Amino acid sequence: VVEKGTPEHSVVTTCAYCGVGCSFKAEMRGEDLVRMEPWKDGKANHGHSCVKGRFAWGYANHRDRILQPMVREKITDPWREVSWDEALSTVATKFRAIQAAHGKDSIGGITSSRCTNEETYLVQKLVRAGFGNNNVDTCARVCHSPTGYGLKTAFGTSAGTQDFDSVEHSDVVLVIGANPTDGHPVFASRLKKRLREGAKLIVIDPRRIDLVRSPHVAASHHLALKPGTNVAVLDAMAHVIVTEGLVDERFVTERCDRDAFEHWASFIAEERNSPEAVERVCGVPAAEIRAAARLYATGGNGAIYYGLGVTEHSQGSTTVMAIANLAMATGNLGRPGVGVNPLRGQNNVQGSCDMGSFPHELPGYRHISDDATRAIFEKLWGRPLDNEPGLRIPNMFDAALDGSFLGLYVQGEDIVQSDPDTHHVTSGLSAMECVVVHDLFLNETANYAHVFLPGSTFLEKDGTFTNAERRINRVRKVMSPKNGGGDAHGYADWEVTQNLANAMGLGWHYAHPSEIMDEIALTTPSFAGVSYEVLERLGSVQWPCNEKAPEGTPVMHIGGFSRGLGQFMITEYVPTDERTGARFPLLLTTGRILSQYNVGAQTRRTANVVWHAEDLLEIHPHDAENRGLKDGDFVRVASRAGETTLRATITDRVAPGVVYTTFHHPLTQANVITTDYSDWATNCPEYKVTAVQVSPSNGP
Ligand code: SF4
Repeated sequence: VVEKGTPEHSVVTTCAYCGVGCSFKAEMRGEDLVRMEPWKDGKANHGHSCVKGRFAWGYANHRDRILQPMVREKITDPWREVSWDEALSTVATKFRAIQAAHGKDSIGGITSSRCTNEETYLVQKLVRAGFGNNNVDTCARVCHSPTGYGLKTAFGTSAGTQDFDSVEHSDVVLVIGANPTDGHPVFASRLKKRLREGAKLIVIDPRRIDLVRSPHVAASHHLALKPGTNVAVLDAMAHVIVTEGLVDERFVTERCDRDAFEHWASFIAEERNSPEAVERVCGVPAAEIRAAARLYATGGNGAIYYGLGVTEHSQGSTTVMAIANLAMATGNLGRPGVGVNPLRGQNNVQGSCDMGSFPHELPGYRHISDDATRAIFEKLWGRPLDNEPGLRIPNMFDAALDGSFLGLYVQGEDIVQSDPDTHHVTSGLSAMECVVVHDLFLNETANYAHVFLPGSTFLEKDGTFTNAERRINRVRKVMSPKNGGGDAHGYADWEVTQNLANAMGLGWHYAHPSEIMDEIALTTPSFAGVSYEVLERLGSVQWPCNEKAPEGTPVMHIGGFSRGLGQFMITEYVPTDERTGARFPLLLTTGRILSQYNVGAQTRRTANVVWHAEDLLEIHPHDAENRGLKDGDFVRVASRAGETTLRATITDRVAPGVVYTTFHHPLTQANVITTDYSDWATNCPEYKVTAVQVSPSNGP
């Protein structure tokens, strides 16, 4: 992939980075990508893009890419390059041997939110139909699993309610635990445009993110809460709405479970949920909470957008339900301009969850214990399916350490770098007999692997990604897969999974990802109307797409919720077990910067210095002065779990007592210092609250 010459033809495809899902024209000269041009007809981006999608695709041809399968007996042995046949038969033999010795539940798989829907579907099918268990999980476990739980409980569907166009009808926008300018730049531009037109903005975030004050945009209210107190603040806003008579009674009566509402309203009206009581917990002045609540409830169409600052907490699922409560109480659902909208970090988080990547759910979010749903898949796949949920990712490592889980297939995910409690992850992997990493690069997880299967980039495959607004976008192959090794040609990731399934005797014969999508449509009601022919004709489509909505569903829950009546849930604030004290007096929270993407595996391998910015620790001037720190000094950041070294930047973007960093570089090892606390419902780790001490350091 090099920029050279004049393009000869172009192919429309979808960005490989964030959940906005921008469409691009890949302009080609032969097999060379000349440039990526944002596609003006892309329905998620309307011709716009950010720097990552436009310029950060050089990783596709980076010298670090592994292009030949490799195996080794022990993880201390050197890698040995082998043919695809040998690599896949090695995996099949080892996995079957582990199952013969330790039972069918002793192996599993992890899917990726960076792979296509079709690839993800095949991995969960391999686990359920081939391994014979439900030990499949996804990297969404560590980001948006609380969204799945919370929104399904409240509305009946684990997805955002609106399309991006909806923001053009919003009068009040509440952004909580998200930094769209850095994380979802093209959506942030649309939001800023709407704010410049007069819409009001409320930001709930411990940090003064760009949206709070940027050229021509200023938030009406910034509730700079103490990390870990989201639920308290949202309950206090609901308290104002209930006690000041701001509830949309008609909406609640017609659209929601009235008994559940009454139960919730009497809980929320208790004095302990008042802004005055909550101020002592969260540090936000009561008057600010009251003013923000009144604005959201009375300012016209109110839309809520949120990110990982909501989900990555011990009360992540509770926070999502508290957001849903606010929207239902004010009638802000079921029309353009309103709604509850999770901003997904990776390009296909929504899709990987839709495709049945969780151990308890088949595609379409149907529980594995449901006999009728299981029967659909059993008939089509020709195999009986286990009716018990399988292991979640952290439980796979627990089981590895007690000797009952010994084989793992990891597609497109660096769990050593991105999962919490790194020591637990590496101990678990070290205890396994066969770890298979299927990826572009020898990532940190590959240090614990016995087999490495080289992956293909988004430029080398056909398929679909589903963005944060449930939009199914086509990914189109623009060049041949480079992972051919010694063979005549390489393989897209879906082909690799199919070949592995066949090495294990499953007899799959998909000729193209469109056939996988046809199977998804056959088995999954919300995808019943989706096909590559429909995607070609409409450009893209938002699920549910079926008989009732043949052209898809931009806005959900019009006239009724997926579950029938909307469900209010009691959302009691429970403080995290992570506490500050004399040894660890500061609270660390984390986020992203515009030029980097997640653990940086792709963006750091792009030829431009802006992609190499290091992770910095933001610290308030008072806290810096107390420690004798100057801007740019190295600091030791220590928590109860571990320590790392970063360079400090002194700024009042963070409040006294709060520090902040990003997590894009492997050397930073942010997850060495994060705790092992997690969301009570989904095990999503509490990355956003860690008690730390910061002290001067001479450097790493
Ligand atoms: Fe890609 Fe997201 Fe940037 Fe769009 S906003 S170009 S999807 S990284």
